[in-house]
Amino acid sequence: MSQNSSRAVGRHFLHIPGPTPLPDRILRAMDTPIIDHRGPEFQKLAKRVFEGVKTIFKTSNPVIVYTATGTGAWEAALVNTLSPGDRVLMVETGQFATLWKRMAESIGLRPEFIPTDWRVGAEPSLIEDALRKDKTHEIKAVCVLHNETATGCLSPIAEIRKAIDAAGHPALFFVDTISSLASTDYRHDEWGVDVTVGGAQKGLMLPPGMSFNALSDKALAASKTAKLTKSFWAWDDMLNMNKIGFFPYTPATQMLQGLAVAIDMLHEEGLDNVFARHDRLAEATRRAVRAWGLEIMCRDPKYYSPTVTAVLLPDGNDADAFRNMALDNFNISYGASFGRYAGKYFRIGHLGDINEAMLLGGLAATEMALALAGIPSKKGGAQAALDYLISAASSPTRAAAA
Ligand code: PLP
Repeated sequence: MSQNSSRAVGRHFLHIPGPTPLPDRILRAMDTPIIDHRGPEFQKLAKRVFEGVKTIFKTSNPVIVYTATGTGAWEAALVNTLSPGDRVLMVETGQFATLWKRMAESIGLRPEFIPTDWRVGAEPSLIEDALRKDKTHEIKAVCVLHNETATGCLSPIAEIRKAIDAAGHPALFFVDTISSLASTDYRHDEWGVDVTVGGAQKGLMLPPGMSFNALSDKALAASKTAKLTKSFWAWDDMLNMNKIGFFPYTPATQMLQGLAVAIDMLHEEGLDNVFARHDRLAEATRRAVRAWGLEIMCRDPKYYSPTVTAVLLPDGNDADAFRNMALDNFNISYGASFGRYAGKYFRIGHLGDINEAMLLGGLAATEMALALAGIPSKKGGAQAALDYLISAASSPTRAAAA
């Protein structure tokens, strides 16, 4: 709480990379009476959501909606398509890739991890090499995070698809879009992804507790012979009930109310405008970090994340102490650091229902916190972001789009 006070004044600056701030309109959409989940009103809502959500994943196939966080949708992708002992190729982009790999191990798969130093995205040529070596096609799936939330590195999904094809390998292709969906361009069908895993609490601007599997025909065919144990996650029951606008169990009715409105809001803004806004805010954040004289965790610009920027502190500074201090003094929260980098960086989330003024408030608070914490850094980061946002707002392309 702010200096010697037990009350935090004003709105909290939620700069973790999800869950993201809930728009009031979504809160209101969820603040409605519970309806009968086997009645006609629900059926209408569910059908609207099932059609709408396809436009977000850019797919014409069904999208499964789970009452679970993203971790559940990870498991669903694996257990519906694979069998015990299957090899899966994964890329160690960071903490969340590591957690997905651990899950694969724990359910009886044999993951192979392409290592990185956690400061880049997944490199297509390394995936191609690993697949070329697998002459007997033992690898049944390639699993990649579109955006590694732990480090702020984005992976090139269309290029990875090309690499899989160039290797002539039949593996399924699974992509986690939990911190990229509805924030940056993503095309399930066009990019030939077999299962896309999504989550509600980031670009979709909803509370945590809902997640998705977007499917391909190939994934559906694989699900007919997959032998890993599944029950709650099984696609077939879901698909049968979803066809008529229902769920096999009690659905998260209020989340669906919110999702229907979130989809409307994204289309009202225009998906391309949503993506451009995230790009602008990300670039403004990176300019602030550079002006502070600090290092961006993602070390190659081609992997820069549009949704989260991880900021390394100079050696000897404790990033967790910094986060606590910023929370106490300026009512702002950031994402934590993980694994071998624990305590070394903090993450600024800039995704979801966030605009220029909100970001500038967050960056100004960060600049104050860096100074107050005595972190060796320069002033002028918030100004650099502001200058960039002015130039971006007055650029001819932006003006034409407005
Ligand atoms: N994958 C990514 C990229 C994530 O960022 C997260 C959570 O932040 C997860 C998976 C796990 O999702 P959840 O925490 O909703 O279970």
